[in-house]
Amino acid sequence: MNTISSKTNTLNTHAPKEVRRAIGKPSGKRMTLPSAVSDLLTRLKSAGHSAYVVGGCVRDSLLGLTPKDWDLCTSALPEQIQQVFHGYHTVETGLKHGTLTVIVDHIPYEITTFRVDGTYTDHRHPDSVSFVDNIKEDLARRDFTVNAMAWSPAAGLTDPFGGQEDLQAGVIRCVGEPGKRFEEDALRILRALRFASVYDFAIDPATDRALRRMAPDLSRVAAERIRDELLKLLCGKACGRILRAYPEVLAVIIPEIGPMIGYDQQNHHHTWDLWEHTVRGVEGVPSDPVLRLTMLLHDTGKPSVRTTDENGEGHYKKHQLVSADIALRVAGSLHLSNDFRDRLVTLVRYHDISLRTESGGINTDRSFLLRRLNRFGEENLRALFLIHCADRIATGYSSPEREHARLRERIAALDALLAEKPCFTLKDLAVNGHDLQAAGLRGKAVGEALNTLLEAVMDGKVENKKAALLEYIRNS
Ligand code: ATP
Ligand code: MG
Repeated sequence: MNTISSKTNTLNTHAPKEVRRAIGKPSGKRMTLPSAVSDLLTRLKSAGHSAYVVGGCVRDSLLGLTPKDWDLCTSALPEQIQQVFHGYHTVETGLKHGTLTVIVDHIPYEITTFRVDGTYTDHRHPDSVSFVDNIKEDLARRDFTVNAMAWSPAAGLTDPFGGQEDLQAGVIRCVGEPGKRFEEDALRILRALRFASVYDFAIDPATDRALRRMAPDLSRVAAERIRDELLKLLCGKACGRILRAYPEVLAVIIPEIGPMIGYDQQNHHHTWDLWEHTVRGVEGVPSDPVLRLTMLLHDTGKPSVRTTDENGEGHYKKHQLVSADIALRVAGSLHLSNDFRDRLVTLVRYHDISLRTESGGINTDRSFLLRRLNRFGEENLRALFLIHCADRIATGYSSPEREHARLRERIAALDALLAEKPCFTLKDLAVNGHDLQAAGLRGKAVGEALNTLLEAVMDGKVENKKAALLEYIRNS
């Protein structure tokens, strides 16, 4: 890392006193650029172009966070950027929009010509872009003030819309007129919620009003763009607050959320309405996209299966099947990967599967745990432990202390069991189909015998050793 620390280059020299305090944490004191980024800026500059780091990396640096990636913008036109980086490993996928990706030490850096965007008729890409020669125009096309800052060693911070102040105050505010900006690109509606969730920021009142009004336009935005923002929103530290405040916006993306808002479950095991239960469930699992989306969808099936008994108590039999169908549809509509979809549907479908043996033991039953491992695999079983815990706490009926103690107990038992490298799948068995054929079994009997042996091993009836298994099958 190469710290640019000459006096004019440090952010603090440009910041008013109170801002200086806010960004005065050690990591936020000055802009620390990776050396590759410094080199890229220097090369552009030496060729006579102005060049800045811009957007998310400036925002995150000012917050004292490590940027995920570094984007550059420059006065150089695309073909000039290509000339400057002739001989570098480059990717030209965004060149029409002014972006050349330069790869240094396997890390991609996007370098984009200063530009203004045309309209987004298809709600996916701007119809046209025009290149401009100054940074301020480029910053004006960006979505929020906190994302509309640029920094260069020569010029220091360029912040024409008060991004630094909004960062300090913790506010998401559109650059320019919010209604117009959301009309240009409705994805910004979800991005506002995403940034508010990730950084625990407030949303400026005018931006808030416009995004609520324009929310229906989100239905026209490309699935992949929605997916990426929604998952980041769900994993944000203030996700619960945002879900509580904007359920109607999310219901544009997932219509099944609509009936859950304020839905009285009329069930004595539940303290809160269905949406509040859902939000607590989401907050209660670790910040992982699969777990968070599972909790968002786990009870979506409830309103459509509800029955009411003679005491007025609501029942939701088989809601998990309906929720799993909804999860499958949502996975399709968000273009989730097959692996994500399969995990999501399984976890929603089995979110309330019993984690106790019939006799009521929680974890200690080895054969029960092995059977669960066989059915779900380690990753999903661990996920089910977490989901189960969060779901129960979110009823308000069981105490967090009790559920966390149970969770710890379950995890410890599973860890101890897995440390023994136990057999819980057919491929762990010390015999295979050939061995059973050699022992005289044929056709369907081979598969049946393998399953019988696996169950016997998981139940501790026979050791997972070849001779013992063949002996067992001969006698059964
Ligand atoms: P992250 O750290 O999650 O990558 P980011 O702010 O870098 O956040 P990106 O989607 O990578 O977000 O976008 C980079 C920059 O491009 C943003 O900071 C913002 O300036 C601008 N930008 C991105 N999407 C839009 C949009 N839909 N409308 C206007 N400006 C946008
Ligand atoms: Mg980024």
